[in-house]
Amino acid sequence: MITDKQIADLIFPDVNSDISVLEARYPNRNLPNGAEVTRFAPSPTGFLHTGSLFTSLICHKVAKQTGGVFYVRLEDTDTKREIEGSGLQLLEQLKLFNIVPDEGYLGDHELGNYGPYVQSQRADIYKIVIKHLLENGRAYPCFCSQAELDDIRSKQEKAKIIPGYYGPFAKCRYLTNEERKERIERGDPFVIRFKSNGNHIRKIKVHDLVHGDFEIAQNDMDIVIYKSDGLPTYHFAHVCDDHFMRTTTVIRGEEWIASLPIHIELFEALGWKAPNYAHLPVIMKIGENGNKRKLSKRHDSEAAVSYFFENGYPGEALIMYLMTIANSNFEEWIFAHKFEHMEEFEFSFSKMSLEGALFDMGKLNFFAREILAKKTKEEMLDMALDYSKKYDEKLYDLVSSNPEYFKQIINIEREKENPRKDYEKLGGLYDLISFFYKDLYDNYVKENGLTYNEKFDLETIKLVLKALRDNLDIALDEQGWFSNMKAIGEELGFTGDRKAYKANPEAYKGTIGDVAEILRITLTTKRNSPNLYYVMQVLGKEECDRRINLVLAK
Ligand code: GLU
Repeated sequence: MITDKQIADLIFPDVNSDISVLEARYPNRNLPNGAEVTRFAPSPTGFLHTGSLFTSLICHKVAKQTGGVFYVRLEDTDTKREIEGSGLQLLEQLKLFNIVPDEGYLGDHELGNYGPYVQSQRADIYKIVIKHLLENGRAYPCFCSQAELDDIRSKQEKAKIIPGYYGPFAKCRYLTNEERKERIERGDPFVIRFKSNGNHIRKIKVHDLVHGDFEIAQNDMDIVIYKSDGLPTYHFAHVCDDHFMRTTTVIRGEEWIASLPIHIELFEALGWKAPNYAHLPVIMKIGENGNKRKLSKRHDSEAAVSYFFENGYPGEALIMYLMTIANSNFEEWIFAHKFEHMEEFEFSFSKMSLEGALFDMGKLNFFAREILAKKTKEEMLDMALDYSKKYDEKLYDLVSSNPEYFKQIINIEREKENPRKDYEKLGGLYDLISFFYKDLYDNYVKENGLTYNEKFDLETIKLVLKALRDNLDIALDEQGWFSNMKAIGEELGFTGDRKAYKANPEAYKGTIGDVAEILRITLTTKRNSPNLYYVMQVLGKEECDRRINLVLAK
């Protein structure tokens, strides 16, 4: 009679090691009590999804907070979906958010004693473990073709029973070892399946750090653990890698909860202790039909982290925003801490909401404004150069043409107790600041003209501008400048008293607000701009007069 061991030797003749060798090669980590070992395990399929950034943020936070280890493992066993170079790109993007692994796959090299950290380089390890399962009758080769699998499925669909390769439908489970040997020797292609002992009528109790205790049906599927290309499937690689890399808490998306029974059975079959699990809620969005749906890479530009880079959002703003999804008490905390030192916030799984969070762009913009307002002018210059070099050539030319001038512009009401929050991202900055530049201002006016409030005719506008040009003293302080403007306006029949104006509009030409608006539009082309007093300081008296004279010449 042919034994399971003989079949295992036939399939893996060159594998002579056993699991104890792996146990010795990857010993338990010597870490203090309570230290968590977490991992981010991306597949190199293109780009960093906002949901994956969320996961990696939590993994990193938990490890840092407990004095543990955060590592990255590249899950590249699905060679069909792999996009060349995207593993490295993922790591580079994480770094921009200060999410730097202590260990693991680092893009162009590896660090740590538990590697290799790229799954396609771990074939030797998987083979040892799979051979062990074969020897112990917990795995078997399956020779079913796609047509046979389709046939099983359509029979199940007709009979309205759970689809899949299990129990009586798991044809190859019932082959004799003699038949197996013959087919292997004949060269029939095969995969290796796990032999489940479960029954889906029975339930198992599980504990999840986010979802708490719950019951779920046992696994009874004989899932594929080893594909014909010599690489393992996700389920098997997860169990094997998280065991030998000594992960203490597996933090991953909620979509994996359904597979948990498979993973638990695999851990049991191998006699290993399963790690703790934390399944994170999915980030949602209100779809076109008004229903909630997953943030999707096909429909939502904000599903890709690159969107935030391309638009010049400060990375901290996105992280701060994601932390509000992570913990319900974070928002209050960060307000109390004036949007600073978020790394000191104590994260806890128990304060994570179970419902998928709705992605809230408004809140992200709010954080972005707060964060940009806190930067110094030098930091803003560096950020603007850095951003525009990659994404906005026009802005780059403008800023780099005169960095000192840019610093003056960007410093308006910055570097003070309550800085103004004029900017939320670097994307679009060109349009906001271009009026400060003489040529761009002139081009704009030539092409578009200036649009004033219709209630003033050109004559009144000119009257106001001439009086301001001749009498407004920008050498005064802000308060003095404003009083000066007010007096000039009053002289011309405008009032500083809004109430009086409201009660009797006929008695006045307008308000001092109107005077300021005429000046603002003339100097900036816009109805909204940074503080006008400082705009004038940056432009200088001569340029202000020149802009006014262009209108007076009409
Ligand atoms: N490679 C899997 C994914 O990208 C990882 C899931 C996990 O963290 O275990 O979804």
